[in-house]
Amino acid sequence: MRVSQILNPTLREVPAEAEVVSHQLMLRAGLIRKAAAGIYTYLPLGLRVLRKIEQIVREEMDAKGGQEVLLPIVQPAELWRETGRWDVYGPEMFRLNDRHDREFCLGPTHEEIVTDLVRGEVRSYKQLPLMLYQIQNKYRDERRPRFGLMRGREFIMKDLYSFDRDEAGLDVSYKKMYDAYTRVFTRCGLTFRPVEADAGAIGGTGGTHEFMVLAESGEAAVVYCPDCDYAANVEKAECKPAPVAGEAPQGAYRLVDTPKAKTIEQVAEFLGVPKNELVKSLLYQGDGKLFLVLVRGDREINEVKVNNALGPFINLQLASPEVVEQKLGCEPGFVGPLGVPEDLLVVADLEVPLMPKAVCGANEEDKHYVDVIPEKDFRIDQVLDLRMVEPGEPCPKCGAALKDARGIEVGQVFKLGTKYSKALNAVYVDENGVEKPCVMGCYGIGVSRTMAAAIEQNYDKDGIIWPIPIAPYHVIVVPVNMKDEQVRETGEKLYEELLKLGVEAVIDDRDERPGVKFKDADLVGYPLRVTVGSKTLANGEVELRDRKTGEVQLVKVDELPKHVQGIIQEALKVNKGN
Ligand code: ATP
Ligand code: MG
Repeated sequence: MRVSQILNPTLREVPAEAEVVSHQLMLRAGLIRKAAAGIYTYLPLGLRVLRKIEQIVREEMDAKGGQEVLLPIVQPAELWRETGRWDVYGPEMFRLNDRHDREFCLGPTHEEIVTDLVRGEVRSYKQLPLMLYQIQNKYRDERRPRFGLMRGREFIMKDLYSFDRDEAGLDVSYKKMYDAYTRVFTRCGLTFRPVEADAGAIGGTGGTHEFMVLAESGEAAVVYCPDCDYAANVEKAECKPAPVAGEAPQGAYRLVDTPKAKTIEQVAEFLGVPKNELVKSLLYQGDGKLFLVLVRGDREINEVKVNNALGPFINLQLASPEVVEQKLGCEPGFVGPLGVPEDLLVVADLEVPLMPKAVCGANEEDKHYVDVIPEKDFRIDQVLDLRMVEPGEPCPKCGAALKDARGIEVGQVFKLGTKYSKALNAVYVDENGVEKPCVMGCYGIGVSRTMAAAIEQNYDKDGIIWPIPIAPYHVIVVPVNMKDEQVRETGEKLYEELLKLGVEAVIDDRDERPGVKFKDADLVGYPLRVTVGSKTLANGEVELRDRKTGEVQLVKVDELPKHVQGIIQEALKVNKGN
């Protein structure tokens, strides 16, 4: 392609609406444009990157026996009613009616549709295992679409669904996908980590891992062990109780004044006690049901764990101050577990009953109880792991101190079990003529999010630094002065020869100053730049510059095309792992 012809509108200024680097650079490099919040157009160079990621994904899915299909975006409500998800999915689902007033949605995911296909077409154990996948748009009316392609409302996902005879078969399919994902993200040139994840609302029998690209801008918090392979999303990371030392109080608990001290910090400071001697008590509301959650004052409540233990709820939230007032007769800052109504469920984190003594809210304005003994002074209905892990805590596998990091979730592998096959009656007949539900797994890769994640990890102050396997083009030929005949002709000749050798090349044939051309080339992130100028041509040479390292080599004009071809072939070969 000729740069003069490519629709590649680059911008010098950082667009005000873009918060994260990948979003800024994709707009500035002319790869995407916004149509509406969370909805984007891919321009030619952006689309080329997307297609390359798709192709890597496709090759790795095919290599594991995946078969590509294309499932509909517009899906009938009836199928979602069969699994009960029409009502559960909530406001994230884009819903629409046809002219006959029949209800549909734009697919946020495809378990229903694919299971419907399989129940119609699979009869016998001989047809299993089966792995079907597609690469297609997904629609989710996200509460906060943001960060460009990172969290869109229309985005591109690869979703694969596995159907097996039994759990052992599912384990094999799961392992295949786990390995395939490892290859996909390695081939995309990303630094990533598979982490243990929460099974959440999709529900299912067991394991799930998220593939996290490690980057400061990541929305997910993870902990990992520096000494072994343990890594987990903080939502999931198991917490062992770490008791605090201390003596139980001699006398009974007492009511004390704590004027205006509502937060853990304020109470700890006012009473002069460490935060780990306080009980943090929060009234929660899950779909209308109220319950009191207790953790030690120095810990954070993990709402995902709360939801899993007591729900799942469609809507779990802190009770409003009005509801707290109504139920417990005080402001949220003075809530505590002593003397709460009998019908209020009290759940406590594992560490709470181990506290030798505690300060708790008294359910009375400006008052707290001190010298409370959690084990005996108030009712706890359930003791569970309900808190957030913290960096420095021991690794559950090997005991080393955990570290924390931010991650971008680019993929997830998930053991579904028979949840959907049972609900939709996707069954097969086994060797003995017995009818059984298929055992399923589902496996998603955020293809468009992966494009953003690749930028989050590969950029500098001048722009994007594409890993060669997903770069829009491999090399840009820049004749520094199009008016100089020898320069122009040499540039054109090199460009033609590169194309003949199968190298993906563009030529910047614009009548622009070299500085402008170099800036654009760096911004777009072509891995290699060939600079053709009269000075080096005098020696029969051109400059070859590596975008990543900034290294410049002088190469003979005649040798340039083969030399570049060699670099690209090597990068793609190593990358494919052949
Ligand atoms: P998240 O927790 O980030 O909302 P999710 O767990 O709901 O994602 P999945 O249903 O597991 O997402 O979808 C599979 C993959 O699709 C995710 O791993 C992610 O890479 C991608 N993805 C999910 N939601 C979006 C979105 N709104 N925009 C872009 N990619 C997304
Ligand atoms: Mg996920």
